[in-house]
Amino acid sequence: MIEVPILDLQRQFRSLRGEITAAVLDVLEAQHFILGPNVTALEREAAAFCGVEEAVGVASGTDALLLALAAAGVGPGDEVIVPAFSFIATADVVSLLGATPVFADIERDSFNLDVRSARARVSPRTRAIIPVHLYGRPADMEGVLALAREHGLAVVEDCAQAMGARFGGAPVGSMGDYGCLSFFPSKNLGGCGDGGMILVRDGERAAQLRMLRAHGSRRKYVSEVQGWNSRLDELQAAILRVKLPHLPAWNEARRERALLYRELLAGLVETPEMTPGHVFHQYTVWLRDRDRVARALAEAGVQTFVYYPVPLHLQPMYAHLGYRAGDLPEAERAAREALSLPMFPELRADEQERVAAALRYALEPAMEEAPC
Ligand SMILES: *Cc1c(COP(=O)(O)O)cnc(C)c1O
Repeated sequence: MIEVPILDLQRQFRSLRGEITAAVLDVLEAQHFILGPNVTALEREAAAFCGVEEAVGVASGTDALLLALAAAGVGPGDEVIVPAFSFIATADVVSLLGATPVFADIERDSFNLDVRSARARVSPRTRAIIPVHLYGRPADMEGVLALAREHGLAVVEDCAQAMGARFGGAPVGSMGDYGCLSFFPSKNLGGCGDGGMILVRDGERAAQLRMLRAHGSRRKYVSEVQGWNSRLDELQAAILRVKLPHLPAWNEARRERALLYRELLAGLVETPEMTPGHVFHQYTVWLRDRDRVARALAEAGVQTFVYYPVPLHLQPMYAHLGYRAGDLPEAERAAREALSLPMFPELRADEQERVAAALRYALEPAMEEAPC
């Protein structure tokens, strides 16, 4: 029995039920489902929220990455540097375009791209780099942008887990050439289905992306380039417009819960740093005995998740690239030791206390056995 869920979307829905159902009904009454007024309005509102000129709604966060890379000119023969610890979408969009993902290691403390490791992997074929703001913590954009400038690389930010996060005051997605958002239901701003968006700083890039999401056509039925059918739909946009104004408060609530975990778990496990601008999509701790502890927590009714058990360079689909265990040790360690605890804006303090108590209980025997 799950007593403390890792995520409970019903609590959020209950608080917005009237507004969301009204927004959905409006779209149903209008019967304008594809690229209607809500998509246009959400593009404007999300661009303003993220501090960019323009935003282009697409069908998913994965498609946002795919179309951004295509717009950056990535294709067969190119290499794209990707952190080895992320969701598979960060890498498979690269291979979908016929290019090769080149995996870099992550930093021990941030779970994010290690710029020194990335620098060591730049080659004459490197065309782009994808910093991922994993778990809601901004990656080292200063380092990434400096590396990109040195080598003329396009920077595609994977902001799927970090909408509203900031690096040195700048919103994520506003620093690279392209910023990619996901509205997958469990993300910090989640829709009622799939959805995504690409943030850009100029109208020319936005126009190119609008062409790529609609079969390469600017004018209906005239295709200038190879494109896709990848649009954010009007129902999702209407729902997301209800939710977007709440995102700052939700992200703040996540930070408050992270603070409480930090107190409750002090001395028990290694907890993530409270860096400014972190929006805690996940609250992820390191545990040497991770799988056993996760089982003990499940028995105590506390739901946890392993994001992600297999690093990208060791995925079966990339076996042909020839990576071996040991090549990227920090990514591999994270895959072995990272455990994400319940985290969402409506999580209650008494539930966090239960998580802490269950963790303490799960870790006690191991502590007694440990040699002093
Ligand atoms: C969710 C996610 C994506 C993909 O987004 P979808 O909307 O599910 O396609 C890409 N990268 C990361 C890091 C993600 O967490």
